[in-house]
Amino acid sequence: MDNNARLLRQIAELSGEDVALCFQCGQCTGGCPVAEEMDPKPREAMLLLQLGMVDRVVNSRGIWLCASCLTCGTRCPRRIDYAKVAEACRAIVLRGTRSEYDPDNAIPAELEEVPQQAFIAAYRKFAG
Ligand code: SF4
Ligand code: SF4
Repeated sequence: MDNNARLLRQIAELSGEDVALCFQCGQCTGGCPVAEEMDPKPREAMLLLQLGMVDRVVNSRGIWLCASCLTCGTRCPRRIDYAKVAEACRAIVLRGTRSEYDPDNAIPAELEEVPQQAFIAAYRKFAG
């Protein structure tokens, strides 16, 4: 099994989504609030995954820009949740690197000023 096939299987296991179901309608990208900044955009990412160019998605900036708003999943006629696919890609990257977000290293002044939800969201998104 080559690296792309291994990554694709990991994404399927972590996300529970079947990228083969996507028929490239573009409804996900059309409703995504950050699609303009994404590269690849959700529909393009799904195509790359289907074509076996998985490392292009896993190593992309787009998976980090996803705001996990779930709009794409609610618009998808095939009921694919792209937010879960992006989350799986981030998890693959984070599990291979040391997390930059350690709760024990939080600065006390930050803890007082930054909303707790922001810390929790950062740990969920950036901590492996
Ligand atoms: S969950 Fe992510 S990819 Fe989907 S619409 Fe929201 S920001 Fe875009
Ligand atoms: S909305 Fe669903 S079927 Fe359409 S391109 Fe996006 S993931 Fe594929």
